[in-house]
Amino acid sequence: GRLKKGLSKTRNGFVVQVENLFSKFTSIDEELFEELEEILIQADVGVHTTMNLVDDLRERAKEEKIKEPKDLTELFKDQLVEILSKGEEKEESEQPTILMVVGVNGAGKTTTIGKIAQRTKEAGMKVLLGAGDTFRAAAIDQLKVWSSRVGVDIIAHQEGADSAAVAYDAVQAAKSRGVDLLIVDTAGRLHTQSNLMQELEKVKRVITREAGEMKVEVLLVLDATTGQNAVNQAKLFNDAVAVDGIALTKLDGTAKGGVVIAIKEELGIPIKLIGVGESAEDLQDFEAESFIEALFS
Ligand code: GDP
Repeated sequence: GRLKKGLSKTRNGFVVQVENLFSKFTSIDEELFEELEEILIQADVGVHTTMNLVDDLRERAKEEKIKEPKDLTELFKDQLVEILSKGEEKEESEQPTILMVVGVNGAGKTTTIGKIAQRTKEAGMKVLLGAGDTFRAAAIDQLKVWSSRVGVDIIAHQEGADSAAVAYDAVQAAKSRGVDLLIVDTAGRLHTQSNLMQELEKVKRVITREAGEMKVEVLLVLDATTGQNAVNQAKLFNDAVAVDGIALTKLDGTAKGGVVIAIKEELGIPIKLIGVGESAEDLQDFEAESFIEALFS
């Protein structure tokens, strides 16, 4: 369905190349592994992760006495599922949660917040939004549009207000109104980066201090089309606010979906959500096995 359609660029640009490679060769030799390395690096899997993957594949093929290159496909798929499902947790906690959403402008933060709010509301839960990107009036306005579209309340101050003060008010409101999910937007201006990171640290400090019984989680929104840049951004944000999960957007817009593997392997942060298009249904829970099945079918 949607997942398969949204991943078609990556399937055609990366997976089909791997499959062609495995069917083109008549024996498993070094040249095959070298070509595989090239394809993976091209697909933004990352040099380090690529080396590990290929070394591991070579070993396993030997151990399992695989002779036909085409039989490598299943082995390769298993490897990817293993990497991507490491630490995958299925439990849905009932605890009221504060979700602090971070990421650079344009990554899809507002859209992701809107879609999460919509899904959570539809599941019968009470949602509140906090307009913490006080740097841009447009960000506050966009979030207000989502709030009325979805039918959830929003806490917002004026443009230029202290975003930690918005977070403070939003958490107090969430506690007194007994909401199940408070989603706090944050600024994502990329210039003046050190200021941004300091601001995010402060917002997280305030949220954590005021959270009471509510659980605090940080969700980082990354644009998959930025490739290895996304990996570097993730490191920056993770250093500042300790990211609990990643929403990887715009996978429909890239042939280099291998970045999913790089993010998981190099950062060890679970990918929670993926965006494969512009509509609400295109934001999906990430699940390793169905992701790989959609890529390889
Ligand atoms: P923000 O600046 O981080 O808040 O980004 P926005 O939420 O405003 O999103 C920027 C643009 O990316 C908008 O045009 C969104 O519709 C678009 N967008 C977000 N997620 C996806 C996705 O998964 N796929 C596609 N194709 N576009 C997306």
